[in-house]
Amino acid sequence: GLDDADERTIFDKIVAKEIPATILYEDALAMAFRDVNPQAKTHFLVIPKIRAGLTRLSKATEEHKTLLGHLMYTASVVAKQENLDAGYRCVINDGVEGCQSVYHLHVHVIGGQQLSWPPG
Ligand code: 5GP
Repeated sequence: GLDDADERTIFDKIVAKEIPATILYEDALAMAFRDVNPQAKTHFLVIPKIRAGLTRLSKATEEHKTLLGHLMYTASVVAKQENLDAGYRCVINDGVEGCQSVYHLHVHVIGGQQLSWPPG
């Protein structure tokens, strides 16, 4: 199914550098790269390099707490690197009603322009 933890996604291929991406940040646990279909002037994704069962946020368990904190901290580090000093938005889409399309947890970071709220 869509959130089958055994299926590789396009993000596993980006981590393995089997397909190209504009990588903004990488460490042992996380990677940030530009979204191929940007929804704002700046739009990048922060992902765990090893999905570790996190097909989606709703699969999070106690053992994922440190990794989840690392992803949010990484979002802030890369936002600073991208000069998003005037502000930005972090979004995690979960499941069908959340409009998730890639089942490898990712934090969207969107900014570089005035955003509107609430979203559609
Ligand atoms: P979701 O809808 O699952 O929250 O977001 C998935 C995001 O991944 C979308 O914004 C989409 O544009 C992005 N995306 C999908 N395939 C690729 C790809 O091959 N490369 C990059 N850089 N982004 C991708």
